[in-house]
Amino acid sequence: MPVGGPRTPLRVAIIGSGPSGFYSAEHLLSQDDVNVQVDMFDRVPTPFGLVRAGVAPDHQKIKSVTRVYERTAADDRFRFRGNVEVGRHIDHADLMEYFHAVIYAVGASADRRMGIPHEYLPGSHSGPEFVAWYNASPLDRARTYDFSGFRAVVVGNGNVAMDIARMLVLPAEELARTDMARHAVTALAEGSVREVVMLGRRGPAQAAFTPKELREVAERDDVDVIVHPDEVALDPHSRHDAEQHPDRNRDQNLEILRELAARGDRGRDRRIVMRFLASPVSLHGTNHVEAVEVARNELYRGDRGALRARMTDDREMIPTGLVFRAIGYQGVPIAGVPFDPLAATIPNEAGRVIDLLDGSPRYGEYAAGWIKRGPTGIIGTNKPDAQETVETLLQDLRAGHLQRRVPSRRVLARLVGERQGDLTSWADWQYLDGVEQEMGAEVDAPRIKFARVETMMRFLGERGGS
Ligand SMILES: Cc1cc2nc3c(=O)[nH]c(=O)nc-3n(C[C@H](O)[C@H](O)[C@H](O)COP(=O)(O)OP(=O)(O)OC[C@H]3O[C@@H](n4cnc5c(N)ncnc54)[C@H](O)[C@@H]3O)c2cc1C
Repeated sequence: MPVGGPRTPLRVAIIGSGPSGFYSAEHLLSQDDVNVQVDMFDRVPTPFGLVRAGVAPDHQKIKSVTRVYERTAADDRFRFRGNVEVGRHIDHADLMEYFHAVIYAVGASADRRMGIPHEYLPGSHSGPEFVAWYNASPLDRARTYDFSGFRAVVVGNGNVAMDIARMLVLPAEELARTDMARHAVTALAEGSVREVVMLGRRGPAQAAFTPKELREVAERDDVDVIVHPDEVALDPHSRHDAEQHPDRNRDQNLEILRELAARGDRGRDRRIVMRFLASPVSLHGTNHVEAVEVARNELYRGDRGALRARMTDDREMIPTGLVFRAIGYQGVPIAGVPFDPLAATIPNEAGRVIDLLDGSPRYGEYAAGWIKRGPTGIIGTNKPDAQETVETLLQDLRAGHLQRRVPSRRVLARLVGERQGDLTSWADWQYLDGVEQEMGAEVDAPRIKFARVETMMRFLGERGGS
């Protein structure tokens, strides 16, 4: 009986329930000519990856993309198995034994290093961990932050840095009406941070944030966005590029930044100070961060024409006890799966995992999303990316590379249940989702998120099991 035929479903494990996992499932389940079953695993009890644990709490509209994923989950060929971590409860060898194919859609959850002295002094934090903490990820619930100082420094110049800066300066009443974790709302409300300095390595023309995010803070009446006029004036290289190569995002950013520089300080008591051509050189402090030493940079044209930053001797100290490193995410390896340490991705060709050393194909193993291409792109970027991976998988199926016998779903369920007693199903998630929304409605918030696995399990237990 061919795999994928009427009697022998193609059994696919998808590891990760973020956008790339769900778009992979959607594309697999939309194949009319292939009989397929999808089992999706996630290490946390709740689905949706960074849509739940990354996207900013005040950007609710963006999160409504989960309705599309809910439609996929409603397919009776789909199973969700939450709170099951690959590498802990089940491993790569299990997946290869129980499935014809596995798609790794595990994202890129680690942060990148700045590579400067005293980078990890207490008070200096990973941006990705902070984002996960304020979004109620149970993996990050136990973290603590000291918001008692006036100033925080965010290293980075992209949308994640902008999200972090905004969360630090928004008034507590406003945060309370979002789905921000309640522990974060309380801690920020009790804190005294009123100024956030964002440090961008390159100039305003190279900033990675989008005009929409910049405009969002620029248009607030209760927050000043301070931009130094001399830092928005373009250097000759950037001016040349701006004249030769139109770029809508860049040009809009520059326009807004110039307006902000002209507007100056309006004396609001909360402010975001956007610095450009400024790199941290070292953190200073005895037992805790006390200041960031910053070098002024200049731009030069590097290989292939890209503008790069290099430090000058011009230095300054920015006193602060709170630093967030928001210079990018990176993937982490999974035991038994090839990993490219330089790109921090799973090496692949059109989604099919390949051996790192000789490039040979590993039929039956695939990657999608951030772990496939690196941590770039918006939610929608993951759709064509996942479709490409699934097309490669189907090509391998048709070429006969996935023809083997695997145990039934019942046997799989027994294995997973033995390894992790506290796993969650889709019905469990729907119950938790309902409770979160009900609790939110009482306080005029979209939801109050569960932030602890034990609490989720208690609620599920009290409901009477699933
Ligand atoms: C802070 C932030 C804000 C963003 N805001 C926006 C925005 O406003 N709009 C927008 O369009 N895009 C936004 N993005 C980008 C968007 O979130 C990503 O493009 C997208 O989430 C990547 O999808 P993914 O499926 O590859 O990874 P993820 O969304 O990270 O999903 C990976 C999943 O894999 C699970 N997992 C990891 N390891 C294991 C394991 N070993 N076993 C089991 N499960 C595992 C994780 O728990 C997670 O659920 C934002 C990103 C960040 C970081």
